[in-house]
Amino acid sequence: MKRSVRNLGAEELAGRRALVRVDYNVPLGADGEVRDAARIEATVPTLRYLLKRRARPVLLSHLGRPHGTPDPRLSLASVRPVLEHRLGVPVHFEASTDSPRALERSRRLPEEEVLLLENTRFLNGETTDDDELAVRFARLGDLFVNDAFGSMHRAHASTVGITRHLRPAVAGLLVEAELRALGTLMGRPDRPFVVALGGAKIADKIPLLDRFLDRADALLIGGAMANTFFLAQGLQTGRSLVEAGSVQVAKRILNRAGGKLSLPLDLVVVDDPDAERPVAETVAPDRVPDTAMAVDIGERTRHAYGVEVRRARTLFWNGPMGWFEREAFAAGTRALAEAAVEATRTRGFTVIGGGDSARAIRQAGFAERVSFVSTGGGASLEYLARGSLPGVEALDDATVE
Ligand code: ADP
Ligand code: MG
Repeated sequence: MKRSVRNLGAEELAGRRALVRVDYNVPLGADGEVRDAARIEATVPTLRYLLKRRARPVLLSHLGRPHGTPDPRLSLASVRPVLEHRLGVPVHFEASTDSPRALERSRRLPEEEVLLLENTRFLNGETTDDDELAVRFARLGDLFVNDAFGSMHRAHASTVGITRHLRPAVAGLLVEAELRALGTLMGRPDRPFVVALGGAKIADKIPLLDRFLDRADALLIGGAMANTFFLAQGLQTGRSLVEAGSVQVAKRILNRAGGKLSLPLDLVVVDDPDAERPVAETVAPDRVPDTAMAVDIGERTRHAYGVEVRRARTLFWNGPMGWFEREAFAAGTRALAEAAVEATRTRGFTVIGGGDSARAIRQAGFAERVSFVSTGGGASLEYLARGSLPGVEALDDATVE
């Protein structure tokens, strides 16, 4: 167990500068406007908690991959008005990160106001966890709060290095909630425990497949991931998205899976997905035409997977069931989302993880109707596969009182 902000005493917060690592790695539009504020929203509870106890939040985040040099298109200035609007207190932006000016502004920050510093990845040394940079970061606060769950699988100066020089170092409320939800899946989940995996990136998800083959009662495979399994079974997949490099692993997993693993019973295929009105038909997995592309799970699969998911007492779902960004191919993903909502309603514990999966459940309007939507794509997967993350390890241990 790690120490969280809630384990800090009033005197550890009042008047102190709380240096908070947040994950504001948000998608920006052409004019630098924030196109999805979910990650900003997710930090509001921690920031309110700190403000209410008269701590003075100074925020650090990365945005994009500027590779150690400033890039105006990746400035956190874009985030400032959005955060101010959500939080309802003044949010100031400082166009540098570890500078004397940033330090001075952190010291002068009044209570009930927030200071947001510039992109940590504008600095050389952030992603290599340079210790001198970590020392300069550590001066910006009197205590460290990590609420950037989506960045905790990276050992960077602002996630790990800083904890070598600044204590207390505690989890924010978002990180605490993430660890609790994912921890339940790793501990003793109520059964049946159903895992649904889709999306595109098999190679990233192999450790997860292995992990859950042992722990789950049923593993439902969909999305482009299923195509690679069909290839491994020797079927023709036409022009479907496959991961050729993962076919051998898929074979190994199929051999080991026994009856636990389910593949789609039918697939929605199209000849030309870019046609104005793509002509879709539903076929058996061994009947995918050479020229066609599988873009969604079919009706029979939706029904079969729906039955399993509704029955689950614990559900983990990562990866959309099809090319859900296209409305015409989103039905399979939506059907699974509906089943997840139903499972939650009948007191199942349901966790959705993964960047695109989280987007899919929000797009379907169901995010509030499942138990937990994990904000960290890679971080959630790595935590589930390995049981720990560098950024989590680095925090103070909770003391048993
Ligand atoms: P997550 O971010 O939830 O972990 P991934 O990144 O692995 O998920 O995969 C999500 C992507 O996979 C989405 O962009 C989705 O459109 C794509 N996808 C899923 N199924 C298919 C398919 N059958 N054909 C093409 N793309 C697919
Ligand atoms: Mg993704």
